[in-house]
Parts: sequence; C-alpha cells; structure tokens
Amino acid sequence: MHVNIVEGCIACGVCESISPEVFTVLDTSIADNSFVPGHEDECREAAEACPVSVIKIEE
Ligand code: SF4
Repeated sequence: MHVNIVEGCIACGVCESISPEVFTVLDTSIADNSFVPGHEDECREAAEACPVSVIKIEE
C-alpha cells in the first residue's frame, strides 16, 4: 500500500487523530509511508474520513 496526499489538504487534523504514526499535519498533511505497514486499516479509515478527500491510497 502507498499513501499520497494530493493538493487541497485543509490541515483539519482528522487523519493524524486516526493514525498519528502515518500522518503528521503541519501546514498540510504529510504521510510517512515507512509507517504504513501494520496501519493499513487506519490509512483506509483516514482516507474515508478526510473531509476534502485528498488522501489517495494505492493498494
Ligand atoms: S484529514 Fe484530509 S484535510 Fe484533514 S489534515 Fe488529513 S489530509 Fe488534510
């Protein structure tokens, strides 16, 4: 699985609250793919929860 954040993040913090290991929200959200293994379900949940749908997951 690979997680990408595309343009348009509003830095709401939802993804980081779901998976603080993978997502760090500063001016925009950053995904650290080295932490994705073992957190795949959380990444999918974050992608579903993102209010602007900018978390893109390649399975
Ligand atoms: S949930 Fe979406 S909009 Fe909110 S910080 Fe994460 S990527 Fe950005």
